Order: sequence, then C-alpha cells, then structure tokens
Amino acid sequence: MITSHTKLNAVIGAPLTHSLSPALHSCAYELLGIDAVFLAFELRDTALYARAAKMLSIGLTSVTMPHKQSIMRFLDSIDEDAKKVGAVNTVINRDGTLTGYNTDIEGIRCALEGVELRGKRILVLGAGGAARTCAHVVASANGSLFIRNRDTKKARQIANDFNGSTAPCEFPDIIINATPIGMHPDTNASPLPDFPFTNEMTVFDCVYNPVETRLLRDARVLGARTISGADMFLAQALAQIELWTASCIPKKIKQTLSMFLKRQLHQKF
Ligand code: NAP
Repeated sequence: MITSHTKLNAVIGAPLTHSLSPALHSCAYELLGIDAVFLAFELRDTALYARAAKMLSIGLTSVTMPHKQSIMRFLDSIDEDAKKVGAVNTVINRDGTLTGYNTDIEGIRCALEGVELRGKRILVLGAGGAARTCAHVVASANGSLFIRNRDTKKARQIANDFNGSTAPCEFPDIIINATPIGMHPDTNASPLPDFPFTNEMTVFDCVYNPVETRLLRDARVLGARTISGADMFLAQALAQIELWTASCIPKKIKQTLSMFLKRQLHQKF
C-alpha cells in the first residue's frame, strides 16, 4: 500500500516504452520488503530533472539512453570509475546531494564472473557507451583489449583511453558484442555471421532482448560458452539497489529476480 512514507525512485530516458526497469525494481522492492515505488519518466531536460530529484527526494534514479552523459554536469559528485568510463547510469540522492555511479561496470563484471580476463585476447565490437564500459572492465582486469567498430575513429579513441588496439584480432579468447546488432526486432542479424567459434571461446552479448541473440545461438551451437546481456542487465539493477540501500541483496532473492527478468524478457521478445 502507498502511504506517506513510501519512497520514490525512477528511471529517466527516452524512449522508455519498453523499459523493464520499473517491473524489475518493483519486484525487487516487494521481495526485499522495501516501501518504495519506481516510475518511468520519459524526459529530455536532465538539468530540470536533477532539480526535481532533490525537490521530490527521489532516492535512486536509473539513467538510460540518451542521458548517461548529459546528467553528469548536474550532479554534486561522481564516482571515479564512472568518470573513467565517462557515463553515469545511477544517481543516488543522499540528503539532497546527488552522486553519480556507473553500475553497468558491475553488471559486466558479474556477467563475466568466472571468466578469466587477465592476459586473454578480448575483442569488443562497438565503440559506444557499452563498449567503453566493457573496455574499462577488460583494462582493469589486465585483459588484452581489441576494439572493432564501424566508425574507426571512435574505435581508436577507446583503444587510446583503455590501452587497447584496433589491430585485427584473428583468434580471440573472448568476444563481446557492444553494438545493438541482433536486438529485437532484428533478431536474425549478427555482428559476426559465419564466424568460426570454437569450444575454447567465450561470447558475451550486451544485448538482452532477446535473451539468446543470433550471435549467442551461433556461438553455442559451435560449442562456445555464451553469456547473455540479461545477466548484465540484472546485475546492474541489483547494484543500483545495493547502492541505494547500502546493503547486500541475499543470493536467493537475486536468483528469484533472475528468473523473473528472464520470464519477462521471454514474454516480451
Ligand atoms: P551506443 O552508444 O549507441 O553505441 C552503439 C555502437 O554500436 C556504436 O559504436 C555503433 O557504431 C555500433 N553500431 C550500431 N549499429 C550498428 C550497425 N548496424 N552496424 C555496425 N555497428 C553498429 O549504444 P550502447 O549504449 O553502447 O549500447 C549498445 C548495446 O548494448 C545496445 O543494444 C544496448 O541495449 C546494450 N546495452 C545493454 C546493457 C545491459 O544491461 N545488458 C547496458 C547497456 C547497453 P558507430 O560508432 O559506427 O555508430
């Protein structure tokens, strides 16, 4: 029941019609016994939103496209890792002070948990926000980073910023798709059609709709280990809640939320 104590959290972005964040956060709050609602605000003016967040005491804001960069200059402080990546996907309001974080970093780390990155040849496809975040994770784990992107200038920029290379990577150990290729409704597209995947490779797709993209299906059929963007999406949302509540979410609840999210994704896409 909504009372005068109920807290307000939100996601901001445009468009938000297909956002799964409200459903996922609401389910998490219910399981955790948190008295809060989570609403979607489709808006363009991040300066105005930052003021509104303070005025309305919005505790947690999930920030999505296209606001991950533009929100930054309206915050009181920004976490060092978010600064390195150059994007904020989470704003926590502590007594009127807004702090920006990037829990996509944690999302990628969790999705890749158990995959050795150190010294491995890691090919990242794309050079947008997700690719920069992947590059940061790879670089901080001492992986050997290769970036491939349609716009080669942007690829060189990421390679420079994260000690990577734009040279061709013939035999990658790990492939990460950080482009939207394969995303609903173009589910038959792949960034690497006819690629000779092997059972020694790991393939991680940042795309989470559908849960298993064409890229992941092709890689799985040829024996590669595959990781869905749904794992990243869940982990970044859980990290947001943990930052806001300053406490850890029990493993059992994480598992329930993982099943909830995958069910939602299968129903929608
Ligand atoms: P972005 O900033 O717009 O970057 C997209 C990148 O993909 C750009 O480098 C772009 O190349 C490339 N690209 C787009 N369409 C292409 C095409 N048809 N052929 C070749 N390259 C293409 O987007 P983003 O925020 O990085 O997101 C990328 C993907 O990751 C999206 O599908 C998004 O949903 C997903 N994502 C998932 C999560 C999660 O939690 N699982 C979180 C964030 C993002 P150019 O530079 O040449 O334009």
